[in-house]
Amino acid sequence: MKVLKFGGTSVGSVENLHKVKEILISDQEDKMVVCSAMSGVTDQLVKIVDNVKFNDTEAITRSLHWLENKHIEVIHELVEDDAIRSVLKEGVSSMITDLFEIANQGYSDTVYSRIVTYGETILTYIFSGFLNAIGVSNVLLDAKEFMHVESVENPNILKVGKKLNRIIENSPQASLFITQGFVCRDKENNISHLKRGGSDYTATIIGAAINAIEVQIWTDIDGLHNNDPRYVEGTKPISHLTYNEAAELAYFGAKILHPQTVSPVVDKDIPVLLKNTFAPDAPGTVISNKTYRKGLKAISAKDGITAIKIKSNRMLMAHGYLRRIFEVFDNYETSIDMITTSEIAISLTIDNTENLDKIVKEIESYAEITVDQNHSIICIVGESVINDKNSYKLFEILNYIPVRMVSYGGSNNNISILVDTKDKIPTLRFLNDKLFQVPNEVVL
Ligand code: ADP
Ligand code: ASP
Ligand code: MG
Repeated sequence: MKVLKFGGTSVGSVENLHKVKEILISDQEDKMVVCSAMSGVTDQLVKIVDNVKFNDTEAITRSLHWLENKHIEVIHELVEDDAIRSVLKEGVSSMITDLFEIANQGYSDTVYSRIVTYGETILTYIFSGFLNAIGVSNVLLDAKEFMHVESVENPNILKVGKKLNRIIENSPQASLFITQGFVCRDKENNISHLKRGGSDYTATIIGAAINAIEVQIWTDIDGLHNNDPRYVEGTKPISHLTYNEAAELAYFGAKILHPQTVSPVVDKDIPVLLKNTFAPDAPGTVISNKTYRKGLKAISAKDGITAIKIKSNRMLMAHGYLRRIFEVFDNYETSIDMITTSEIAISLTIDNTENLDKIVKEIESYAEITVDQNHSIICIVGESVINDKNSYKLFEILNYIPVRMVSYGGSNNNISILVDTKDKIPTLRFLNDKLFQVPNEVVL
């Protein structure tokens, strides 16, 4: 069985849904298809939750009508058979009624999750119905019945596998299953979600759970590029990446992949292919454990980084100081991304500022602590990146941009610098020119 995931743009219009259908029918393998919500829908659902917080019933009603009309129009254009069309329209309207009821319960974390995951529920319902209507028979699965996680970082692959395999065995004739990305159940069995962009992760969790032969992630670009195409012109797709390289790039901001995407499949060595729904013949990117080429592969940037400097003369020659500092971050479940130390100071970065006030309060009782928000980590990534003949050029950035921190050695795959977010785009462009605009060099 293969797992195929289609993202928001791929399922974002009638025209694109037809493209997805073509991709599905062009491959005879048994398939588990994971779909996102139509693009823009999850954003709208998040806005609805904001309105739930402020009890703004009028705004909720307006947004829900917008969502209902959007999906009903899709059904109208997509499905030719009148009877099936009416059934699907009724189904969508009844889901919108459910959403009204959930929104009326007032805000809670579960209400947030129940609302924001509806985009996937509605879209898969329509798409599955459409495929059945045109004779592409398929079974629609409810991800809430099998997608269990202890926490976002800890999917319960065994449990997912047991439940899914049972479901698959119950449909021995089926060769095409369709399910929702993003949605899951947490360890208390409440409906939850895998964080924004989480459908990629759903696909690899399922891939690992059912021992799929491969996971394909279909999106709106022809693979993972060597720099962020949203900010840099002339980026190029990379044909092969190792799991480690892809994990670093995803964690450090390459939006094409949810940060956790590769982790479920690494141990099982299931390849992940990144493919373009709008250019299915383009080779895309293959992520596996094979190293085709060492050295520099790509640049990425992660925003929303807070830089923290902790200074104390007591640190001089003292042991145990770092432990004391790390314990504070650990107690508040705040992970640290970058870290550098000097004799009397530590600089580190975090991206989760939920407990920052408490952390600062605790540390300032024995050290001077300064906090600077709005920073970005820029990394250059590739196996043995330090040995690449071009990597030294990263440091030429020091002539132009104030660099706040530099980090290498945590892994051999990554050299990171920290800059003010306002300098991110010039940095990405500068590095692209320096590192990749080498005449006649082929990007493997
Ligand atoms: P989907 O909705 O299919 O999950 P996303 O919007 O999450 O798609 O991811 C695809 C987008 O990621 C691309 O359109 C591109 O703008 C962006 N992106 C950012 N960095 C990269 C990169 N290094 N390579 C390819 N795409 C990237
Ligand atoms: N629909 C969700 C989001 O927009 C999940 C996903 O698309 O992967 O974040
Ligand atoms: Mg995505």
